[in-house]
Amino acid sequence: MFHKGQLIPSSEEIKEQQPLPAEGKKIKAERDALARDVITGKSDKFLVIVGPCSAHEPLAVLEYVRRLGRLSEKVEEKLVLIPRIYTNKPRTKGVGYKGMFSQPDPEHGEDILKGIRTIRDLHIRAIAESGLTAADEMLYPENFAYVDDLITYNTVGARSSENQMHRLVASGIDTPVGIKNPMSGSIPVLINSVYAAQSPQVFKYHRWQVSTDGNPYAHCILRGRVDNYGNDIANYHYETVMQIAESYASMDGITNPAVVIDANHSNSGKRFKQQIRIVKEVLQNRACDGDFQRIVKGVMIESFLEEGSQPHDIVFGKSITDPCLGWADTERLILEIAENV
Ligand code: PEP
Ligand code: MN
Repeated sequence: MFHKGQLIPSSEEIKEQQPLPAEGKKIKAERDALARDVITGKSDKFLVIVGPCSAHEPLAVLEYVRRLGRLSEKVEEKLVLIPRIYTNKPRTKGVGYKGMFSQPDPEHGEDILKGIRTIRDLHIRAIAESGLTAADEMLYPENFAYVDDLITYNTVGARSSENQMHRLVASGIDTPVGIKNPMSGSIPVLINSVYAAQSPQVFKYHRWQVSTDGNPYAHCILRGRVDNYGNDIANYHYETVMQIAESYASMDGITNPAVVIDANHSNSGKRFKQQIRIVKEVLQNRACDGDFQRIVKGVMIESFLEEGSQPHDIVFGKSITDPCLGWADTERLILEIAENV
């Protein structure tokens, strides 16, 4: 049984009420071009997608992105820093906190219209205060229309990468979409998702039959896998990346072969400090092998103001979902990436 609640305005109406100012539009266009150029190989800069697992508290996220914006000025010759502002993040078991989209206040019940307004406000302020446009996970493809003018890097999560609607919507996005390997770790499934996202598609989106051009910037993110017994198995190593390189080469019609390594999740086993070692290992592999270097275009790091995680929002700037690196470690690591990339 469904029970109708509040009527939610269309994405056009919401965007009209909460527009991205002209200066923000300019930043967005420049940053989109930068991110695309990394994926196509036109630029040899390295992507660092970095920030909290979930954005639950706007003030803490804004403080984080302002710091990242200042750091970006020091490393922009080498790196494209993209803050994670993940506004749809649910808990692993699918109940409880469902992210800012559903619960703008994590301690209160669902208020989706307020959630949408809070998310737009957060992204618009983050762009104005840091000069950076963000990454977000497209957890619910239908909702992408409410933020498509704000986000430079979209991801499709591990539990969504086999889903048809995610693949179809990804095919209409004109900026990079990172598709995570599914929880099983299947490389063929992952490559099929990238293939679908890079292909032109026709489908129903909101009230329209739409057609897309295909997204040539869709690529793989390796996040580790989980075996049948629930054990985390890392997949950031040379061997898996080369397997992906071969799969890309054998698929006619895929362009811009690219991989981003997610250092947390099942690669670190959520032992968040391991992200430092994993990123350094990726850099070392890049330094040793030209093929690995060409295909690995970036890393993803979970990081917030304070390290670790907490069940409820008590400590300012500490994750309430996956455990994160703290700011001091993050800053050190980003400077090291810039020196060694
Ligand atoms: C995340 O990026 O925070 C996340 C939970 O991703 P995944 O889909 O890889 O589990
Ligand atoms: Mn996470």
